[in-house]
Amino acid sequence: MVKLKSLLMVLLLLASSQIHSASPVDNIPLQNQLYAMGKLSIPERSQESFYNKLQSILKNPLDPHSEALANILLGDYYIHVNDPLRAREHLNIATPLVNTIDKASLYQEYNYVLMLVLRTEGKIQEAKRTADALYRDVRESWPDNKLSDIVLERAYLNSYMYRYQEAFELMELALAHAYESDDPFQLVETYNLFAILYGGLNDYPSAIDYLNKSIEIMEANPSFTQNTYLYVNLADSYRASEQFDQANDYLNKALEIARNTDDISLKAYAHQVRGRLLVDQEQYESALSEILLSQQLHKQVGEELFSFEIHSELLKIYTELEQLDKAQSHLQLAKEYASQLGSQDAHYINRLESQLAFKSGNFEQAYELLNESYTQYRKQFNDNLTYVSNLSREQLDQERLVFENKLLEQENKLNAQYVKESKKYSYILWVLILLLLLVVGIALWIMLRYRGVARTNHRMAYTDNLTKLPNRRHVFRTLELQHKSSGQTRKPYSVILFDIDFFKSINDRFGHNVGDKVIQATRNICEAVLRESDTVGRIGGEEFLILLPDTGIKEAYGIAERLREYFESYNFDDIAPGLTVTSSFGVTEYMPDDETLDLVINRADRLLYKAKNEGRNQVMASFA
Ligand code: GH3
Ligand code: MG
Ligand code: MG
Repeated sequence: MVKLKSLLMVLLLLASSQIHSASPVDNIPLQNQLYAMGKLSIPERSQESFYNKLQSILKNPLDPHSEALANILLGDYYIHVNDPLRAREHLNIATPLVNTIDKASLYQEYNYVLMLVLRTEGKIQEAKRTADALYRDVRESWPDNKLSDIVLERAYLNSYMYRYQEAFELMELALAHAYESDDPFQLVETYNLFAILYGGLNDYPSAIDYLNKSIEIMEANPSFTQNTYLYVNLADSYRASEQFDQANDYLNKALEIARNTDDISLKAYAHQVRGRLLVDQEQYESALSEILLSQQLHKQVGEELFSFEIHSELLKIYTELEQLDKAQSHLQLAKEYASQLGSQDAHYINRLESQLAFKSGNFEQAYELLNESYTQYRKQFNDNLTYVSNLSREQLDQERLVFENKLLEQENKLNAQYVKESKKYSYILWVLILLLLLVVGIALWIMLRYRGVARTNHRMAYTDNLTKLPNRRHVFRTLELQHKSSGQTRKPYSVILFDIDFFKSINDRFGHNVGDKVIQATRNICEAVLRESDTVGRIGGEEFLILLPDTGIKEAYGIAERLREYFESYNFDDIAPGLTVTSSFGVTEYMPDDETLDLVINRADRLLYKAKNEGRNQVMASFA
């Protein structure tokens, strides 16, 4: 019976050991040891001895709970030595184990590291949710140094989302935990975060104060190697308050440490701030190479948190360098990262976009974006910062004014340039218009003058100077036209040729002048007798020709007779007292067989000759 009992015992033992080897039983002491390691201070958790211990633990077969914890702690270690990629790897190993084991204390350790990894990955909102929930879970059970750590993380994440009031409220809690923890490292971190918050509110003197306090404690504790980025923070605050020499000194210090410790993350951050510094000094080319180097280094260590800052910095630089396409693409990237961060930097982005629009000559859009930026800026402060905002708001307004003035100045410059250009063009235009007017004027003048001359020439060519009657040429031209048209229409016309009698003796007795006046008077005599349609011209010294269109010989004879009578009875007393003048007339009619004008003229001429011969002062007509 006893034997049987002991045999059963042996079998049971065997079976249970069989079970143990298939699924290792919880190694509670190891788990406790690992939990205790998780409660160490950050400097202790960042030491190589901490890492070595975890590696040696992981070499042995572990129960899942211990394995999860060991990986979580390795993630913790890697986060604190700025290797977020490796941290994520170990966290990913832990994830399925944590979910299977499903134990609150394990979730808490996991979430602590997850919160840190999410932040470095730039997943601010997720990180914040994780941190807030974790704090609620562990505030009664975890030691003060870790509680301070979580609260600082929450404050930091809030500041990233521009929730400054919440951040400041958390800082009181963080400070209380830090004092309780008696962990100087937490105090360093707390002061640093105060500096970050004050810097975020543009209160750089306060930021510099807090950083100096923080650095003082850090320098007193040589193991606080992961706090060296404080030098870069200080440099950035000096930069922001335009103390560029101090800023450069601290950047050089940080870069030297980064070189000595091979800290790529620190190097990346230092180059980023140096880029920012060069932007402030308007050295955009060198700023560009600093920022691009920083971007490459951040990528190398898997830091995503700074992507927004990097892209907005590149946007700013490319805008200034007027490489607007590149600026545009960084604007898009910055916007993407901004939305990942919870769109809290919209005012900043809008301001940069406004500048880009401005550089692109898009003034209206620039103003709209700028206005929007101010509205968002103010709203942030009104929403979150009623209790710290008075000073900051003044500073913001100051900054806004400076920016606005700069924008206005630039626009004025551009406008002036534009006005100058358009003035130049309008000047050229005016000169052209004047030249054109001048040319047109000259042309008109020439034309008018030419027309005047031509008219004068014409008049001179066709008018007799003494009587202003048509001259010989004119009369014969008119006659020719009449002759041609009568050749076609068979309409009659008549010609009167007359010559003043004994004109020589008028000249001899009364003088040439009187002779001229007699010739001039002849015109008046003709006009008194002739009709509107008749043409009289002077064709020789005192010899005249009259064309009578549509007039037959009888009628023409009558007209000539009246002329003769008129001459005879005309009173020439006011030309020369006692002067009487007579004329002799030859009158003929166009006949259908008068092929040429000469035939008509010769006939009239012969008739005139006849009138002279037969005693003068008479009319000779050719009646058919
Ligand atoms: P007749 O009755 O035969 O015509 O005698 P006449 O003296 O008129 O002779 P004729 O017609 O041959 O002479 C014309 C003269 O008229 C010649 C010239 O001295 C004169 N005479 C020609 N033109 C002008 C002129 O424009 N002004 C003046 N004052 N005399 C002129
Ligand atoms: Mg005569
Ligand atoms: Mg004559």
